[in-house]
Amino acid sequence: MADNSYKVIIIGSGPGGLTAAIYASRADLAPLVLEGQQPGGQLTITTEVDNYPGFPEGIMGPELMSQFRVQAQRFGATVLQKEVTEVDFSRRPFKVTCGGEIYTCETVIVATGASAQFLGLESEKRLMGRGVSACATCDGFFYRGKKIAVVGGGDSAIEEATFLTKFADKVTIIHRRDELRASKIMRKKAADNPKVDFLWDTIVVDILGETEAGIRALKIRNVKTGKESEFPIEGLFLAIGHTPNTKVFVGKLRTDEKGYIVTEPGSTRTSVPGVFACGDVQDHYYRQAITAAGSGCMAAIDAERFLEAQGS
Ligand code: NAP
Repeated sequence: MADNSYKVIIIGSGPGGLTAAIYASRADLAPLVLEGQQPGGQLTITTEVDNYPGFPEGIMGPELMSQFRVQAQRFGATVLQKEVTEVDFSRRPFKVTCGGEIYTCETVIVATGASAQFLGLESEKRLMGRGVSACATCDGFFYRGKKIAVVGGGDSAIEEATFLTKFADKVTIIHRRDELRASKIMRKKAADNPKVDFLWDTIVVDILGETEAGIRALKIRNVKTGKESEFPIEGLFLAIGHTPNTKVFVGKLRTDEKGYIVTEPGSTRTSVPGVFACGDVQDHYYRQAITAAGSGCMAAIDAERFLEAQGS
């Protein structure tokens, strides 16, 4: 096999991509993993992960991903910190381009994930994982007995806020309009929960706090009156949507109306035979590390069987 030719190329290095790499390398397929701009994926911007099975005391997100990577490399996966800029899935061998470098392969596993949308504040970046989070399931536990806020007005905001009332004393949903986008049933869920209240027509203009001490308040603005005030809280959860990382696949793979890659139910097969997708790039519903890892395993098995059927 010539240099830069692989049986399997895995694009992305979160729990989905690296689990696919572990399985593909154990199947002797010597996969190439192109890590992308955020090696390790979304877990590298959380702090402690308490719900990944096998770690009863919890594990830091970056540490967990580093262990995934070491495990994949142990069985022969090559991991390169490169970002894919172009793909050609029109015929096999497929072409995957990273800047000036072209790689070819018989199968591709797309595991590029999704990115939570952020407000775009400097303080939000600084305090991420230190009082600011984009994942209630991951971080809610740390807010027992606290007063927190959720930004957003969709189903996720209500779902996250309701989940967070298991821990927090009070959860305020801050929404930029005076009407929720969330479905009727979710709206009722929030209205019926005595721990949830709302701040309408309101945006967050700054998050006040320090990396060590965490956050103490939000600076908020009423968009109708223009009035600014401080709103004391100890945690801020963002639920303003996710964007699948599918820019390079537009027009190459079938995607749904929100840009997520469409896979055949019960498999990781995409619209192009030989190209598989796993993790959050094809799942906007569960979005958990463990579900991404599970589908990564499926993708590697699907790729292996595809290669077998081709006699490759
Ligand atoms: P979404 O429906 O797109 O809602 C995003 C919310 O964030 C909107 O209310 C939007 O405000 C607000 N927002 C966006 N950018 C903002 C910004 N820069 N500043 C302040 N607010 C901002 O996203 P989602 O709630 O994550 O839901 C995604 C999909 O998953 C939906 O189809 C949803 O139904 C589904 N989902 C379903 C369930 C369930 O059924 N259990 C649970 C979760 C998600 P505007 O309303 O003003 O645009």
